[in-house]
Amino acid sequence: MTRKRKRQVSYGKCFVCGRSASKQGMTRHLKSCKARQEAIAAEQGPKERLFHIRVDCPYAPMYWMHIEIRASAPLVELDRFLRAVWVECCRHLSQFVVDNTYYLSNRTKRTWEPPKEEPEEDKIVPEAITTEEQKVLWDALETLFSDWPEEKGMEVPLEQAVQVGSTFKYEYDMGTPTELRLKVIEEREGVPPLDGVRILARNYAPFIPCEECGERATVIHVWGEEGPIALCDRHAREVPNWPEGFLPVVNSPRVGECAYVGPYHEEYRFEEVAPADLRSTSFAMRNA
Ligand SMILES: [Zn+2]
Ligand SMILES: [Zn+2]
Ligand SMILES: [Zn+2]
Repeated sequence: MTRKRKRQVSYGKCFVCGRSASKQGMTRHLKSCKARQEAIAAEQGPKERLFHIRVDCPYAPMYWMHIEIRASAPLVELDRFLRAVWVECCRHLSQFVVDNTYYLSNRTKRTWEPPKEEPEEDKIVPEAITTEEQKVLWDALETLFSDWPEEKGMEVPLEQAVQVGSTFKYEYDMGTPTELRLKVIEEREGVPPLDGVRILARNYAPFIPCEECGERATVIHVWGEEGPIALCDRHAREVPNWPEGFLPVVNSPRVGECAYVGPYHEEYRFEEVAPADLRSTSFAMRNA
């Protein structure tokens, strides 16, 4: 980064009491939030180990949220939530990366299997090596690549992959990737949320200025000649071929990428802007 930027503060909303706090302050607020303490004290039902996780985007840090999830939940449950709330556009692949271990959304176990017997007339190439030789070759390759990063599936429970203090990575779509970083902030014994994940806090919709007039942008022109540009309604309509090649501005780190149009569950849509007295923040779109 070469350009100097003003100090920028990103604000978000506590979903328990409705109060605003800065990104830095929210972790502290959630520890002392009265409404949250009361809600926890009033919890009824069987308790389980819960993880409090903060998620944000390393190259667009104004997107962040705090969530609570069962520690025993398989990673795929967290994957499903992140897709639903922030990233899913066309069912791309995803992965979690914890240290040197990859947890893949599509992992198929690679084991050696003898080739199926094909009818003689379908055989295009005669078998050059025998089945036994193929097995030996497979084992040799397995040994050769044994120090490569370990690959697992997402059926692994969170508590087996991470613990309090762990930071890890989530990547969605290997073509036009959206990368998130996660940190397990703390754990507690509590009643797990009904639908898997409890949202504790989220960032307000950041201000993305129209590149023509500086007003709040509503769309991204992804077919812009010099790359994607953010535009307000008025200036978007002046672009030839409007509305082709436009994506809506949504409160997600995947805004303007691939075919992303926002969360596919309405309850996950959060487009609230910060209260006026906090709105000193002005984020340019490509500020990384
Ligand atoms: Zn609160
Ligand atoms: Zn896509
Ligand atoms: Zn404009």
